[in-house]
Amino acid sequence: MVNDDNNSTDNNNVDKSENGDSSDKSNEDEYEKICYVCRRPESKAGTMIDMPGGICVCADCLQKSFNSFQNFGMNMSISKDELEELLNTPGIHMMTTDDFRREIPKKQKLKKKKSSEKKEAPVLDINKIPAPHVIKGKLDDYVIGQDYAKKVMSVAVYNHYKRVATNTMDEIEIEKSNMLMIGPTGSGKTYLVKTLAKLLDVPLAITDATSLTEAGYIGDDIESVVSKLLAAADNDVERAETGIIFIDEIDKIAKKQNTSSRDVSGESVQQGMLKLLEGSEVEVPVGATSKNAMVPLATVNTKNILFICGGAFPDLEDIIKERLNKQAAIGFQSELTDKYDNDPNIMKKVTSEDLRKFGMIPEFLGRLPIVFTLDGLTEDMLVKILTDPKNAIIKQYQKLLELDEVKLEFTEGALRTIAKKAIEKKTGARALRAIIEKFMLDIMYEIPKDDNIGTVKITEEYINGTGGPVIGMRGQDLIEG
Ligand code: ADP
Repeated sequence: MVNDDNNSTDNNNVDKSENGDSSDKSNEDEYEKICYVCRRPESKAGTMIDMPGGICVCADCLQKSFNSFQNFGMNMSISKDELEELLNTPGIHMMTTDDFRREIPKKQKLKKKKSSEKKEAPVLDINKIPAPHVIKGKLDDYVIGQDYAKKVMSVAVYNHYKRVATNTMDEIEIEKSNMLMIGPTGSGKTYLVKTLAKLLDVPLAITDATSLTEAGYIGDDIESVVSKLLAAADNDVERAETGIIFIDEIDKIAKKQNTSSRDVSGESVQQGMLKLLEGSEVEVPVGATSKNAMVPLATVNTKNILFICGGAFPDLEDIIKERLNKQAAIGFQSELTDKYDNDPNIMKKVTSEDLRKFGMIPEFLGRLPIVFTLDGLTEDMLVKILTDPKNAIIKQYQKLLELDEVKLEFTEGALRTIAKKAIEKKTGARALRAIIEKFMLDIMYEIPKDDNIGTVKITEEYINGTGGPVIGMRGQDLIEG
């Protein structure tokens, strides 16, 4: 008896070392088992029957295979000897469970729903969502300017998660707070959403609308956005269902004007997105962006998923101007037709009629009730972006050099010059990092060479290429470098 027991534990050990280390094994418990025949997870197919070789099969599939065995037995007109002879034929072998053995990659497995787990508390708890001004206050720490956008988003997020937490859908149907943000490139659209998701500690999926096409065409299916969210939530369906999906470049799926062919990446994508935006149950592949026989499926309800769409809408300005000019030119109060030509806030006057004219279909716009614009970044804002946010680029470099006990400073002139250069590039705040990285390379390369250097001051001349940085030795005054 004792010997037998020992043997069995030995076997277990062998098994463990074959299948990976033991910590991996304990992790396995967090994931649902998946039927090797129909690929459904435990939560959908019911209890799994463990088979040799680490394979699990659901009760349905096992029953089906018994039934087919029985049928096979009844119809079998082959004798035992004949069968044996057949099996001895070279190239033919009896299939065993080992032939089906294939490790399912972890990214295709669903995480089991957890009852409770110790975790760091999020800055903003979606179950006890704080008032909009608190949300905006937290956003202020990271995002410079864009006050209007931050205000609108804070209220929308507040309403959305209040609706989710209290589940007050039945009495008065509170509309979903899906948003459409319009703003020039590099003005912080993605950054706002990313910051918000981080503060709320909800999963976030970011997709480019340009990669989406109608199901069946080359490109990603529309439902793949939900798949991405599920992946961002570690395959935890419950967490994914309260997440945020950000669809960038939404202006690129505007209806194509004057086309006779099927608009598979424009209008059809808008049509396909309607039911997702509104809230419906979608079957999405786990760990892949397209459905196929080898990928398990999970059902995700998009009712509580917050959709935020963003785009630059480049020609929208002309459409708004045209409308306003037309209005102004009619009647007794007709005004000069070029009144709106140099209005910097023209985008703020956008209406859904303008967006429709741009090529967004009315049903789609109807499901994005909150529309707001972001401002283009000015020189002052860019300077602040360099220095003020909690994770500002300059703070990051200062921290890096501080580890070498070197103090890094920027003159006001240097910061303004960087901002001016960024404006010229017309890519918003995105240009800042590229510019800084270019001239910081030499600093980061040269400074650690000399242990005596104590301070480095970046000047306007250095940025313009007409001078060098001011280097100070430890315990000495600054000297021109
Ligand atoms: P887009 O509007 O094109 O989505 P992003 O949000 O990706 O632009 O912005 C690019 C980068 O610029 C961000 O990662 C962020 O670091 C910086 N940035 C842009 N706008 C702001 C802002 N208002 N405040 C702070 N940083 C910003």
